[in-house]
Amino acid sequence: METDTTWMSAGNCHNQPPSTFFPSDGVGVEVAKKVCADCPVLGRCLDYALENRIEHGVWGGASERQRRRLLKARRIPVSAVPSYS
Ligand code: SF4
Repeated sequence: METDTTWMSAGNCHNQPPSTFFPSDGVGVEVAKKVCADCPVLGRCLDYALENRIEHGVWGGASERQRRRLLKARRIPVSAVPSYS
């Protein structure tokens, strides 16, 4: 689990109100995702949110629902993926 958060200061959201990234509706989610879209630390932010199981807000350009799907997909063991060879 990553504990270093110094990368956060390089994010596009650094000077944005935190409330932007904790929207109450889908329109707000899209606004936040646009800020994330060209963020230089997007990948690191997304990994941080996934590894730390952060449930709320937009992180790494992903909504709460998108992160739940990513976590679910990552939990599928490789042996459970069918082989088509
Ligand atoms: S990806 Fe989005 S939430 Fe994460 S640091 Fe960048 S702007 Fe902020």
